[in-house]
Amino acid sequence: MSPIDSPRLTVIGTGYLGATHAICMAALGYEVLGVDVDEEKIAKLQSGETPIFEPGLPELLTKALDSGRLRFTTSYTEAARFGDVHFICVGTPQQAGSDAADVSYVDAAVRSLAPHLDRRALVVGRSTVPVGTAERLTGLLRELAPAGTDVELAWNPEFLREGFAVDDTLHPDRLVFGVASDWAEERLRAAFRPVLEYGAPVVRTDLATAELVKVAANSFLATKISYINAMAEVCEAVGADVKDLADALALDDRIGGRFLKPGLGFGGGCLPKDIRAFAHRAEEMGVGQATSFLREVDKINQRRRARTVDLVGELLGGRIAGARVAAWGAAFKPNSDDIRDAPALEVARTLHGLGADVRVYDPAALGNARRAFPELSYGESALDVARGADVVVLLTEWTEFREVDPDALGAVVDHRRIVDGRHVLNAGRWRAAGWEYRALGRP
Ligand code: NAD
Repeated sequence: MSPIDSPRLTVIGTGYLGATHAICMAALGYEVLGVDVDEEKIAKLQSGETPIFEPGLPELLTKALDSGRLRFTTSYTEAARFGDVHFICVGTPQQAGSDAADVSYVDAAVRSLAPHLDRRALVVGRSTVPVGTAERLTGLLRELAPAGTDVELAWNPEFLREGFAVDDTLHPDRLVFGVASDWAEERLRAAFRPVLEYGAPVVRTDLATAELVKVAANSFLATKISYINAMAEVCEAVGADVKDLADALALDDRIGGRFLKPGLGFGGGCLPKDIRAFAHRAEEMGVGQATSFLREVDKINQRRRARTVDLVGELLGGRIAGARVAAWGAAFKPNSDDIRDAPALEVARTLHGLGADVRVYDPAALGNARRAFPELSYGESALDVARGADVVVLLTEWTEFREVDPDALGAVVDHRRIVDGRHVLNAGRWRAAGWEYRALGRP
């Protein structure tokens, strides 16, 4: 087959997004080279170890390595020689001391790759970036690629959800191709052929729109979460029940129940930094009015964390210092080990800072949490950390927490008090078992 029929792919940046993309593309039959500057990560991947917790990914990695279609390297020279299509999946975290996105890793990837490109190639950005980045990178790529080499840039934002990353990559809701030519679209179609055959719709558009689709989608989702959490604040003021309110709203087809779950709010390595970066970028471009609501969305979300700490204090009669707190959850969401901007850990750390004896348990994120916050105490199971507790706080909605039996837990705690930070427990059942049950926005 000619390269246009079955291009060889490089995936630059092998974190949550890139590792998943590289492994899934190899699983679909492509020859793939994963590239990262982190030698330890590359060595782990090459030896069959996934650097992240993601259901289904370890099995696919083993198969892909065994098939010989997937390899990993730290060499950009090798990457340029190998690839027809280069996917850039490096991080774009929030800049220290600013709301802006730090695009320096994306720039570094282009700077490292471009001088080595020696034949016609497509470079495809997948990272989430401020609108205008792709246009700037197009210039950089042309400037740095060897004279006479025909290289083009496209943007193809990724929408995968951690915890469902494999399925989202193999069967995405849609593919967005931000391209400047028919050739680039053809190449992208060739690089996603099996995904397209499965039925994923394509939206072809320009580079700027493709960049915007990603931040617009995340802003919408964040807004929906903060909307119901704002309703929770109103419910608390008037003694109404936000759980019933959300259930009733969800039954309206026009609204729908997804992302309408009240609770501790959103965190992670995407939504919080993406809405801030979007608002910041819009302000830079003089259209800050259009995104000013995102500032409110962020504030509502942050207030949920503080309010959860307050609820714990209320249950403890105001005596947080010295109290034993069992914190269930560290990851920013279930089925992930990602603790970036995790609401769970912020609540746990705040309680620790107020003098509580906090013990944290999470089914997947304990290693990451221990490394990041050695000052907290950790335990090996939900019951283990609850032994002798004055209050239990459910912070991440792992299935195993929903399934805990209130009587079994009651037998190990000192006081039957629980804060359900994610509205996943049956309040009636827990109260019937003698628990003082509290949740945000519920009487
Ligand atoms: P991550 O921090 O897990 O991974 C980034 C990787 O890039 C790291 O392994 C790092 O070593 C590597 N890297 C940094 N500089 C490099 C360079 N110059 N060359 C090669 N590798 C380099 O980040 P992530 O969560 O995978 O996110 C990556 C991008 O994808 C971000 O823009 C993010 O917003 C976006 N995104 C993430 C998700 C998600 O669920 N995590 C979903 C959609 C989009």
